[in-house]
Amino acid sequence: MSNLDTKPAATLCGGDASAGPVRELMTGRTVRLGESTQVRRLLPNMPRRMVGAWCFVDHYGPDDIAGESGMQVAPHPHLGLQTVSWLHEGEVLHRDSLGSLQTIRPRELGLMTSGRAISHSEESPREHARLLHGAQLWVALPDAHRHTAPTFEHHPALPEITAPGLHGTVILGSLDGATSPGTTFTPLVGVDLTLAEGAAARLPLEPGFEYAVLAMTGSVEVDGVRVEPGAILYLGCGRHELPLLARTDSSLLLLGGEPFAEEVVMWWNFIGRSDEDIRQAREEWMTGTRFGEVHGYDGDRLAAPEVPQLPLKPRGRAR
Ligand code: MN
Repeated sequence: MSNLDTKPAATLCGGDASAGPVRELMTGRTVRLGESTQVRRLLPNMPRRMVGAWCFVDHYGPDDIAGESGMQVAPHPHLGLQTVSWLHEGEVLHRDSLGSLQTIRPRELGLMTSGRAISHSEESPREHARLLHGAQLWVALPDAHRHTAPTFEHHPALPEITAPGLHGTVILGSLDGATSPGTTFTPLVGVDLTLAEGAAARLPLEPGFEYAVLAMTGSVEVDGVRVEPGAILYLGCGRHELPLLARTDSSLLLLGGEPFAEEVVMWWNFIGRSDEDIRQAREEWMTGTRFGEVHGYDGDRLAAPEVPQLPLKPRGRAR
């Protein structure tokens, strides 16, 4: 089940004209967040730091949080990125330093653009569903927009695509003529896909984008490679379509974008361009002078870890 182009790819992939389709299956690592939450961190990963401008992907759950506090992420700052809160089950209450107070529910887009500075908290509401299952994703802002004013967008209704046995929700960007209302700063796409057991589909892709796919549930053959929760399949560039075959009832996230050409320094919750950017941001979080205040969260804000003594170096999209 190969996907050879009939036309040679004329597009560049991150400046590398020879880069074409690949199939790199990368395993996530388990990370503890706070007291009770465990996540599978799929990006950054060993060989790949980014897919387009997507630079951070945590997949969590499904977790049974009946009678528990669930997600409790205390106020913390962001810089130089967008956060995407994406749920399959449960709900997350978002608060930020702009005064936003928003419950995000399954397949609604919570999109926070940090720009030059924002802080927020995320928590399971006191009254919550039994199961919590979702993903937390970050998008790096390009240099030209990383100092933009912070904003928060909530899009409860997103465009959908359908094919036999397949249902898709466009989170950001466009797929097959359906375009998300979420604001983007580089050409990219994020799509949530639900497939019925046995469904076969071919998704139309942009040959100038690189792509990756992760499974939220089930088991899907993606260009012939079985993808299950806990792993992410990097697909490279130069593809016009992507064959999918669902082995069970499944759900996937498709992430893609124009390869991000800039080198960035990613540390804690910040994306900067230099060691100095990061040290200054940390200082201004600890002194409370830059990132505003989150009101209404029941608890202390997060303290920043110590910045390593050696200077932090800007790094590119692959290792
Ligand atoms: Mn955050």
